[in-house]
Amino acid sequence: MSSKYKLEKSHQSRRNFLKGAAGVGLLGASALSAKAESITRSSRENKVAKNCIFLVVDGMGRGTLSIANEYSKKQYGKELNWIRLLKNKHVVTALQNTASANSLVTDSAAAGSAWASGERIPNGRINVSTEGRRLNPLFSLAKKKGKAIGLVSTARITHATPASFVSSVENRDDEVSIARQYLEQEIDVLMGGGARSFLDHENALLKEFKRVGYSHASTSSEMLQYGDSSKLLGLFADSHIPYAIDRKHALDYRNVPNLETMLRVALSNLSKHESGFCLQVEAGRVDHAGHAQDIASIVEEQLEFDRCIPQVLEFVEKHPDTLLIITTDHGTGGCQLNGFGEYYSGTNQSMDRISKIKGSYEYIAEQLNKPKNLNKKFFASKLDIKLSDADLSVIQSMMDKDYRIYPFGYRDSGAEHFQGFQRDYLAANLGSYFAQYFAEQMGIGWTSDAHTSELVDCMALGTGANLIPQYFENFELNGLVRRALQI
Ligand SMILES: [Zn+2]
Repeated sequence: MSSKYKLEKSHQSRRNFLKGAAGVGLLGASALSAKAESITRSSRENKVAKNCIFLVVDGMGRGTLSIANEYSKKQYGKELNWIRLLKNKHVVTALQNTASANSLVTDSAAAGSAWASGERIPNGRINVSTEGRRLNPLFSLAKKKGKAIGLVSTARITHATPASFVSSVENRDDEVSIARQYLEQEIDVLMGGGARSFLDHENALLKEFKRVGYSHASTSSEMLQYGDSSKLLGLFADSHIPYAIDRKHALDYRNVPNLETMLRVALSNLSKHESGFCLQVEAGRVDHAGHAQDIASIVEEQLEFDRCIPQVLEFVEKHPDTLLIITTDHGTGGCQLNGFGEYYSGTNQSMDRISKIKGSYEYIAEQLNKPKNLNKKFFASKLDIKLSDADLSVIQSMMDKDYRIYPFGYRDSGAEHFQGFQRDYLAANLGSYFAQYFAEQMGIGWTSDAHTSELVDCMALGTGANLIPQYFENFELNGLVRRALQI
């Protein structure tokens, strides 16, 4: 294989793989020292990184990674690219502490701001310190140094994680101000959901973007058509881009691009800039599926993210003056595959059960706007589940809004937060309600519907990757990246 970064292929059958696993502990030690040697070697080169790519999964705990990997092995006969990448000795791996200034459990705004500003700030803000100081985010600094900037997400493009790389607001919900700050800085490539912030007041903001020369794409085909524009604004959903599982099974979303294609367009566009670029690509909805305790959706979102990895590796191979960081900002939901059944034998059927689920709770909740869908057949077709009459009346009471189960929450117990958002309210309640069922039937458990404080994974490669230690506090990544880029 010519490539230093190509994924190592595993030709082993599952049986051989498991058999071979017994020896991995022994091989692991020498592989580890080879890795350490390689890192030391490349750190001596000490070149400047021209480009920087952040591939971010929002809200990925190790349980999510593990289940998605088992699912990929069972359904597609191969491990995740993430796992295969870990076997490559050139990849730097690290654990990261994700706390924020006011809590051991961060939100995405404070987590992204820690990377972008080098400071821990309170949850809910973007690049505004505890004392109220406005902090200068990483990609804005890079833009001032002449680099092109791209933000891509399956969430609203003005959502906390992409926003934290270039904006500064006291309240993360102030998404119109965030969009306005994108415009002021003329961020070169913007692609994701969140059209609603641009379309208020007769498309006021969208018109301003167009006036300064942005090409606007609202479908996958328009994105491909305008992909090379010097300024690109792709808005593919009013709010978040529909879940990957729904794009796969529901016909309504055929012209909505997937993350992989958005990434391809962004890389092709940004790599033309001679002074380099900084790109953030976020699988934003792993987090949402975690909040919703939606196992099939979280797996499909993780798989979609994983399909981006080979493309980026190919790019880094051709442009080794690039620093690539693959990481997550925190865990969400604490999902785990738990042993159940005699000698835990029940667990092995769980992956097949997940594959029979054909829709997210969000999609199901939306479909329940049509009262005719509240029937056993609908739930059987979407969740492969047999509901009783009692189950149906509980779901009816959710729709009547006199049923609430969400013990954890971000702002409060959740009730006010959901008022006026019937679909999101219903989806959250369906998730909590079915969590018990899926725990018993599939061994899928969730610690809560909230974020978690667990240490999370980070991988890096390319120029400057050797600067990253095996354990760091989230805010420390800022200095390391700035050193690599020399900004
Ligand atoms: Zn979240």
